[in-house]
Amino acid sequence: MSVFLIACIVLSYLFWIKCIYRHHPKTLKKSLKHLMTVGAGSETAVSDVRALIVTAHPDDECMFFAPTIIRLLQLKASVHLLCLSEGNYYNQGAQRKQELCDSCAVLGIPASQITIVQHKDLPDDPKAKWSIALVSSVIMKHLRTHSFNMVLTFDGKGVSGHANHISIYNAVSHLAFTGQVPQDCCLLSLVTVDLFRKYIFFLDLPLSWLLTSSLCCTISCQGYMQAKAAMLCHRSQLLWFRYLYVTFSRYMFTNTFRIIPHGPKDFKIY
Ligand SMILES: [Zn+2]
Repeated sequence: MSVFLIACIVLSYLFWIKCIYRHHPKTLKKSLKHLMTVGAGSETAVSDVRALIVTAHPDDECMFFAPTIIRLLQLKASVHLLCLSEGNYYNQGAQRKQELCDSCAVLGIPASQITIVQHKDLPDDPKAKWSIALVSSVIMKHLRTHSFNMVLTFDGKGVSGHANHISIYNAVSHLAFTGQVPQDCCLLSLVTVDLFRKYIFFLDLPLSWLLTSSLCCTISCQGYMQAKAAMLCHRSQLLWFRYLYVTFSRYMFTNTFRIIPHGPKDFKIY
């Protein structure tokens, strides 16, 4: 009897995942339209999305943001990547830059839309808190040049807790709070989930769907294979535990985001 009950629960859970997945393209378009319309004040098509993904290291784009990048590109949005370091912690910067370009080619981001920053004060170091002023100025310069209407980055826990990831969130929050980012530019932070949810792969989808978020992106098996192929371009990072990550992490399959609210336009610091 109990075996029958467990089988019913498992099958129901899998059926639930299938239902969410089937309706996902429609709900994703609706969420994106809503986010863009709230920012711009008028109806905006999904293909008008000009998204900037801000990461700290080569490999962040596929380890953490692949479902979003793949879905946005499928919807004909324009996706740019700003990576704030070359990932030189083990003196492999040159190799990692090339790996990033290869990974983006697999994900579908054109080389002309990738920017990798090399700055001595933005070291790849899990203990280094980057300057909010410096990171803010780099992001703002990029925003002004390309007129993005969506910026996606880490949240205050940085998914992995890496100090560089958290520094980007602090800088974007600062820009938002001080009203420096145009109101029509939607700012989104990637939700950090607990360790259990982080490693249950596609089984996390109902929880991501149930818990409140502003945007949820999930991909098909084909999309997952694309994300995995992108990760395999980061040859210098393919240690044994990375294979476990690629196999079990929900971030390879699902991303959820929350809005970073804009502050008042005329905010001044005295
Ligand atoms: Zn990173």
